[in-house]
Amino acid sequence: MICVIGGAGYIGSHCVKRLLENGYEVVTLDNLEAGHRQAVLGGEFIQGDYTDRQTLDDLFRTYPIECVMHFAAYASVGESMTDPAKFYRLNVVGGYTLLEAMRAHNVPYLIFSSSAATYGEPQQIPIPEEHPQVPTNAYGETKRAFEQMLRWYDVAFGLRSISLRYFNAAGADPDGQLGEDHHPETHLIPLVLLTALGKRPVIKIFGTDYDTPDGTCIRDYIHVTDLADAHILAYEALKRGAPTTAYNLGNGLGYSVREVIRTAEGVVGHPIPQEEAPRRPGDPARLVASAERAQRELGWAPRYADLRTIIETAWRWHSAHPDGYGDRA
Ligand code: UDP
Repeated sequence: MICVIGGAGYIGSHCVKRLLENGYEVVTLDNLEAGHRQAVLGGEFIQGDYTDRQTLDDLFRTYPIECVMHFAAYASVGESMTDPAKFYRLNVVGGYTLLEAMRAHNVPYLIFSSSAATYGEPQQIPIPEEHPQVPTNAYGETKRAFEQMLRWYDVAFGLRSISLRYFNAAGADPDGQLGEDHHPETHLIPLVLLTALGKRPVIKIFGTDYDTPDGTCIRDYIHVTDLADAHILAYEALKRGAPTTAYNLGNGLGYSVREVIRTAEGVVGHPIPQEEAPRRPGDPARLVASAERAQRELGWAPRYADLRTIIETAWRWHSAHPDGYGDRA
């Protein structure tokens, strides 16, 4: 049985769905601070904090957990710069509590949601896994810290794990059951589509003077269902004896902010109000993954790599659910 921590969140909920479709038994643990109960489409559900040892002890005593997939973390880069303590408390101290509980109950495998933010300013594009990890924000630093803990927990205690470094998670469940619903929303594609729906007045383009062909930042957008599938492949690899490691998850394709907006206009069929704005602090000009190792070693093959397809799936969700899951004010 697989325990999905943060399974009511954006990426976690898509992973729970894919696990269920693949016949796995799942128990989701989520405190619903950011997650949505309706996003958990099946399996067992426990509302609780993974930072609470008692909650974890009860869970691991009740269910025969073989693998934890750990999605629960604070992830807003901007907030991590003004309140790093909050990020260390949940992402690192909470992670320590989780690892100690896993040790105590002999849970052998963990799949961890890591991030391209662990690399910081790229020295080469596309970014391979061996690239130095020098985060430029506290969020990335907490992800890097937990990756390091995982390495030493394997050396000393034999807890095997795979860290998956996501680039820009985007899109929505192709069946239309799940999508992105953050409060507040800070990500480009949902903001562009909410602007297209008239829920927001204008999409701001953060920085038009970058050293890129059209002056705006380039990112590697990767479909959330493709991310979910990578988690299942990573778990299966650990079961076959794969060592503790980390993989990039991206398409290896970079799109600028302007290209994203233009593609979204094509999907929605009308112009989207936009305005040029100053750079957002801490944004590297380009982030593009080399995900060749995940493809080669895990057999991962993204099915929704095309940007238009990614935006179409997101649009299906946002246009059918303009208020998201509708469970927040
Ligand atoms: N971005 C933008 N306007 C917005 C939100 C984001 O121009 O309202 C840009 C942002 O500067 C970055 C890209 O879009 O270059 C992707 O940002 P997002 O927050 O979606 O993901 P991140 O790259 O920070 O993980």
